[in-house]
This record gives sequence, C-alpha cells and structure tokens, in this order.
Amino acid sequence: MTRRVVVTGGAGFLGSHLCEELLRRGDAVVALDNFCTGSAGNVEHLRHDPSFELREADVSLPFTVDGPVDAVLHFASPASPVDYLRMPIETLTVGSHGTLHALELAREKGARLVLASTSEVYGDPEVHPQPETYWGNVNPVGPRGVYDEAKRYAEALTLAYRQAHGVDTGIVRIFNTFGPRMRPDDGRAIPNFVRQALAGEPVTVSGDGSQTRSICYVDDLVEGVLRMLDASHPGPINIGNPYELSMRELAEWIVRIAESDSPITFIERPVDDPTVRQPDTLLAQRVLGWSPRVGIEDALKWTVGWFRDQANGAPPLSAA
Ligand code: NAD
Ligand code: UDP
Repeated sequence: MTRRVVVTGGAGFLGSHLCEELLRRGDAVVALDNFCTGSAGNVEHLRHDPSFELREADVSLPFTVDGPVDAVLHFASPASPVDYLRMPIETLTVGSHGTLHALELAREKGARLVLASTSEVYGDPEVHPQPETYWGNVNPVGPRGVYDEAKRYAEALTLAYRQAHGVDTGIVRIFNTFGPRMRPDDGRAIPNFVRQALAGEPVTVSGDGSQTRSICYVDDLVEGVLRMLDASHPGPINIGNPYELSMRELAEWIVRIAESDSPITFIERPVDDPTVRQPDTLLAQRVLGWSPRVGIEDALKWTVGWFRDQANGAPPLSAA
C-alpha cells in the first residue's frame, strides 16, 4: 500500500535524496521547506511526479497537513557550521518548536516519526569511536551549542512524545555525509575542498588538519534512514560510515581526484571543533541489518564529477 510521507527539510541536501528514494519505492511524499538553506531546484526533477508535493512552510511555526500521513521524516534544520552560526536562533527554534510541531503532526495522524539527530550530540568526544550509549562532551555556551543543544533537546522531546503520548518515534544520529546537491558554499569541508580544487584556489584546511571525521556517501545514509523508518526501534541509532580520515588527508585526496594544482593552505581552527569522530555502527548492523556499501574513493569521484558539472551549468539532478 502506498504510504504518504512528510519530509521536513525536503528541499535540502539529505531531504531531497530521501524524497527521491521514497518516490522510487512507491510512496507519496509531501516535502515542507522554508528554503533557508535548501532550494526548490534540488527537487525540481520530482515536480512532474503526481505523488510529489513541495510546500513552502516554516515548521518552526505551527503547521498541519491535510489528509492521511503515515510517516514523518523530520530533517528541517540548518546543518553546516557556517549556516547554523549565521542563523543561531533559527537553528535553536527549528530544533525545539519545529520538532514539537513535527511530533504533534505525527501524534495527530498516528504516524511514525524519525528525527534527524547528529553525531554533534557527542560534541568533542572523549570516547572513540562513539557508541549510542556515550552521553557526549558538548559545550552548551560555545558557538556550536546552538546546533548541538537543539538536537539534544530534539532527542529528549522525541523520547518524551513516545513515552507520554505513545507516538511511534525513531532517532537517527547522522555522521558526516556527502554527495551531490550539497551547496558549494555551505562551508562544510567536502564542498569547500571540492569547489576550491576545481577552481584552482588554495584548499583551506583548518588547524594542522590532523582532526578526523568519518564520511558517508548519501546513498548509504538514505538506505539507513529508510530502514529506520520501516523499523519500530526508538533509537538513537548511529548512521554513518566508520571510514575515518584526517582533514589533511581528505584535502589531499580531493585535490588528486580533481586533478588540480591547488595548494593546501592552513586556516584558523573553529572554536570547539571536534578532534575525532567515528561512528560505532554495531547497533545499526544488528537492529537494521545496515552497513555502508559505497566505497569512499568512488563516492568522492562521483561527487567531484557532480560539482564539476554544476560549475558548467548542469541542473542539480542525481549523481547516478
Ligand atoms: P540542508 O541545509 O541541505 O537541509 C536542511 C533543509 O531544512 C533545508 O532545505 C532548509 O531550507 C530546511 N529548513 C531549515 N529550517 C527550516 C524550517 N524552519 N522550516 C522548514 N524547513 C527548514 O542540510 P542537510 O545536510 O540536508 O541536513 C538535513 C538534516 O540532517 C538536518 O536536520 C541536519 O541536522 C541533519 N544532519 C545532516 C548531516 C550531514 O552530514 N549532512 C549530519 C548530521 C545531521
Ligand atoms: N574544515 C576545514 N576546512 C574547511 C571547512 C571545514 O578544514 O574549509 C574542517 C572543520 O574545521 C572540521 C572538519 O573540516 O574540522 C569538518 O568540518 P565540517 O564543517 O564539514 O563538518 P563538522 O565540523 O560539522 O563535522
């Protein structure tokens, strides 16, 4: 039977890929977005599909969706440090009020809701890799606090709705994910490095570049999130690729793939920038039967190719 799925933040990077895959699997999709960091262009190729609807809405304000809703993917939130530092109040508001409104929709409709949480709830971790049982090391009054605490609050609220109102909820903690439709200027490491390498500009590595991240291709992430949607587990469950590398290695790799002459230059490290990050994915394997499949070298090549096509004026369609 066709499900009707509401995707908040559906015109964003991850949201647009989720909409696309849900439609491919036969679901109907209502995407809600205020376009503060996403754009209608990300889902333009879906607009001819009668099962797809894009609505402009700020989910931090009360909203409702007419008709049945079987599932809610709550993905609305600025996600890149540059974006959330530019919009600190909006980030806290969408994590708190936006999550409340999405949960109210799920409650009213009897829908399962999956919250997009983040590895940032672990802060600058003192446990490595990070299992879901780790409580984290977050500075609530540091610059990143607006995002980290919004997501920590969103997790607590989601669990409270499950316990107090019996709403069927799930929480995924998403680790650094990349792929087509990231904004070239969103400020995250991969789009920055790729854009800079393709333009022949210096590639800006922060600090000495020894800090690590673990990077996941978007198709793997989408599969993990949709498995969580189809499950009944409350989470939180980490979804990410344990492939860990330093930012200096990442920059060098991207320069090589882009066949660029860009030099690497070192810039100031952001305050409270986590030193290491790697998901423990045992729970995702056990509960969802999920682990990432796409090799990082191929994924970086496709992503560089997509950014190159964009720079040459192609529409923001899928990578494949
Ligand atoms: P993105 O900025 O591309 O997408 C976020 C979308 O939410 C955008 O389309 C934006 O316009 C929309 N939005 C923001 N505030 C809104 C509001 N008040 N009302 C309606 N729409 C609103 O970012 P993304 O990388 O696709 O991230 C999507 C979600 O996944 C976010 O919740 C983010 O915290 C989470 N996440 C992403 C990553 C990652 O690596 N990409 C990692 C961890 C968590
Ligand atoms: N980073 C960098 N150069 C850039 C942008 C980011 O070296 O141009 C670093 C950033 O300081 C961090 C890492 O890359 O150490 C990952 O940053 P990103 O913003 O992609 O993700 P997050 O910090 O949210 O994990």
